Amino acid sequence: MHDVLIIGAGPASLSAALWCDELGLDTLILEQHAQVGGQLLSIYNPIRNYPGVNANNGRELLERFSERTDEAEFDLWTNVEIASVDLKAKRVVLRSGEELQSISIVIATGVRRRQLGIPGETEFAGRGIIESPTRDREKFAGLDVCVIGGGDAAAENALLLAEVCPTVTLVHRSKSLKARREFVEQLHGHHCITVFPESVVTRILGNDKVEAVEILRKDALKPFQMALGGVAIRAGVEPNSELFRGQVELDEQGYVSVTSQQETSVENVFAIGDVSNPLAPTISGASGAGATAAKVIAARLSGHR
Ligand SMILES: Cc1cc2nc3c(=O)[nH]c(=O)nc-3n(C[C@H](O)[C@H](O)[C@H](O)COP(=O)(O)OP(=O)(O)OC[C@H]3O[C@@H](n4cnc5c(N)ncnc54)[C@H](O)[C@@H]3O)c2cc1C
Repeated sequence: MHDVLIIGAGPASLSAALWCDELGLDTLILEQHAQVGGQLLSIYNPIRNYPGVNANNGRELLERFSERTDEAEFDLWTNVEIASVDLKAKRVVLRSGEELQSISIVIATGVRRRQLGIPGETEFAGRGIIESPTRDREKFAGLDVCVIGGGDAAAENALLLAEVCPTVTLVHRSKSLKARREFVEQLHGHHCITVFPESVVTRILGNDKVEAVEILRKDALKPFQMALGGVAIRAGVEPNSELFRGQVELDEQGYVSVTSQQETSVENVFAIGDVSNPLAPTISGASGAGATAAKVIAARLSGHR
């Protein structure tokens, strides 16, 4: 029987676990991937908005986190596949058959990239769909590419791709970009980036690999095709909350609803970080929520011991 089971190992979880360690709680983190860090692993821009640390990218910030988390005494299992969760009973069953029991559960599963559901999106995975502009830099160098989306991730991807691609077309649905000002300024001044506002990509086309996209611009009667060699899809995110659907209150977008103490609609089940924060997802927000949940859990447990 653990005091706290935390699902996910991004910044929210690591912050909660540090506090749980400091407060003397027996804590186990379950992470589906081999590596901890969550979205930090895919941040390539400098992080200048996390107090006390200036990091050149997410991995560098994660290293700074690890300096402290490596010393702390909580258990961390990676490559874990959760088969089912019973939030009321505080029981987690792993695909391996192992059953875990806890006094409290913390949902820290973050968000993932939103899928568009357009033809070609899954068919061309690994064959022209750009997963990471940094990792796939060499593969797409010299090719014309398109980025779908208008937020920070889309803008950052367009700027990174523009370092090696002759043309980058940024296609987004809204009138104006939602990305931070710093990115928008760089995008608009860039000689090889073209921005198509109020437009959507309706199909990704090709034979063995991506060869074109079909773009529909607002007020146009028909879509047009644009030849290119790569597409990055960065059209927002959606919460990783399916595992908990039907057991806990979710908002209409699937984000877990929480109180100011980060507690969900089920007693002693908490949700922290992006999975419960549709409006202002940040590393500092996630860390703060983790600290809040840990302190509330510790206070409750001390009343029962
Ligand atoms: C490109 C980019 C740039 C960004 N730049 C900034 C910035 O400059 N400043 C800033 O403050 N924020 C920035 N962010 C946002 C920031 O990274 C997030 O707000 C933060 O990582 C949220 O932390 P989290 O722990 O809630 O979730 P995540 O980081 O999403 O971590 C969730 C973890 O849960 C795991 N998980 C999910 N489902 C399961 C499951 N079923 N079982 C086990 N584990 C599971 C995931 O694998 C992941 O490791 C950026 C994000 C991106 C993508």
